[in-house]
Amino acid sequence: MLAKAGYRTIFLEKGLAEFVESEPDDPDSHDQSQRLRNGRWPEQICGKVNAKLVRFFPALGCGAGGSTLLYAAALERLSPQDFQAVDKDGSAAWPISYNQLEPFYQMAERLLHVSGTQDPLQPDAEVNDPPEMTECDRHFFSSTRSNGMHPYRVHTACKYIKGCGPCGGSICHKSCKQDARRAFIEPALATGRVTLVDQCVVERLNADRNGIKELHCTRNGEAIKVTAKLYVLAAGALSTPLLLLKSRNDHWPNGLANSSDLVGRNLMFHASDFFAVWPRGRTRVSSPGKSIAFRDFYVHRGVKLGVIQSTGLAATAGNALHFLKSLIDRKGINWLKPFKPLMRVPAGIGVFLYGKATIFASIIEDRPYPDNRVKPHPDEPDTIYFEYTIHDELRERVQRFRDLYRSAFKRHRMMLLGSDISLNYGHACGTCRFGYDRSTAVLDSNNRAHDVPNLYVVDGSFFPTSGGANPSLTIAANALRVGAYMATELNALSQLA
Ligand SMILES: Cc1cc2nc3c(=O)[nH]c(=O)nc-3n(C[C@H](O)[C@H](O)[C@H](O)COP(=O)(O)OP(=O)(O)OC[C@H]3O[C@@H](n4cnc5c(N)ncnc54)[C@H](O)[C@@H]3O)c2cc1C
Repeated sequence: MLAKAGYRTIFLEKGLAEFVESEPDDPDSHDQSQRLRNGRWPEQICGKVNAKLVRFFPALGCGAGGSTLLYAAALERLSPQDFQAVDKDGSAAWPISYNQLEPFYQMAERLLHVSGTQDPLQPDAEVNDPPEMTECDRHFFSSTRSNGMHPYRVHTACKYIKGCGPCGGSICHKSCKQDARRAFIEPALATGRVTLVDQCVVERLNADRNGIKELHCTRNGEAIKVTAKLYVLAAGALSTPLLLLKSRNDHWPNGLANSSDLVGRNLMFHASDFFAVWPRGRTRVSSPGKSIAFRDFYVHRGVKLGVIQSTGLAATAGNALHFLKSLIDRKGINWLKPFKPLMRVPAGIGVFLYGKATIFASIIEDRPYPDNRVKPHPDEPDTIYFEYTIHDELRERVQRFRDLYRSAFKRHRMMLLGSDISLNYGHACGTCRFGYDRSTAVLDSNNRAHDVPNLYVVDGSFFPTSGGANPSLTIAANALRVGAYMATELNALSQLA
């Protein structure tokens, strides 16, 4: 938006700018440079979940395009209800309405080449026609519909190039999956007004009470400083608050832009169930597509739940193995870690016993709690550290959602993969929320920091509530909205000068 409006912009990115297809990808690798070559966050993150210590490689991207390099490209809008206040004092209210974001949703859908069909319950997305459904997806489409659901073709930022599998999990080298690099960074670079500096870690923002003076960065071990008129943080909802808190100084003893004490607080993920569903009769599941979604339980009797989507994965031994290994890491099940290499056996047995099924996923809204937060690690200042308590109300809503989605697949054999609450660490949001009141929000309604006039934050940190759908389309649409606002502001300033 800013480059198109004629402004010179510099992107500072911790990861790489380019990725090569020949690089083998291993999500479990501990080799930091290999992880970076795969667009993966190089370091482990650390946290306390229900007071239990966990340390694991997060589902986070690192490189030009961020986590969208790895994302599954399901690009769903939030629902109009998500933009209405949810708590008694209104502090988690969105300061913009669905209608204000709507033109930018449309723009983001166009730029990201989103395809799918209209959700019968919210039919306003700008989507291209999707390809034919697979036999397996046709089967589930009609089966869920006959069980009273309103299925539609999931909205996906994918060009469906022949021979390319379902998007997600790793970098797409075929120009098929549309990520932030393809849709936004490459066109910005093509204007000639944008510089991308990769392998550049922003270490702190140096600010006085009037605003940011410079950024302190390191690039290949060398310290560099960067100055600009305006600064936009888009480091993700885990790194952005860490950077602001690390940037405390005499002017900002509690952390930069943190007079509200809310930087890092209200951390939300989503809870996601993965469950296997077996088709009935003779339907083949050899190639399920990432095709179906339904939102019949998005809000159930006034309680916000979320969306159900097919993942495009079959319950093969490989997928079951990956699931089991990441479960051990994320749950901090230390005694099982030495047995990770042996997980092939239960995964294989599971698949042998149950045969091939299609994996579906639920996404359930996570609510904001001030004590769920990113904060500086007591001993490792550069490590992302968070504390998160799973509240009983989340458990209850997950259980209610499970009972409901079972009814959508009645007469199918189903198996929940994992039994407890599974937090979706790739969907972090909420840690610098926006709102009108500077005492209850870090950012104003245009994502400018209430405390720091030359600082904007446009990553997933700004969400006051997480909604019950995938976050990326809303992050992209809002960034376009904020970019348009910043361009207008800069124009006004240049006319005054
Ligand atoms: C496997 C996976 C599947 C997903 N599937 C979906 C999906 O289907 N649909 C959906 O909507 N969402 C999905 N998501 C979530 C989605 O990708 C994220 O919500 C979204 O990309 C977050 O955007 P962001 O701008 O907040 O941060 P990010 O996309 O994480 O970008 C942050 C960027 O900042 C860089 N950075 C961080 N710290 C620094 C620093 N100090 N200095 C310089 N650079 C820094 C990072 O390297 C990164 O490039 C998925 C995520 C994963 C990991």
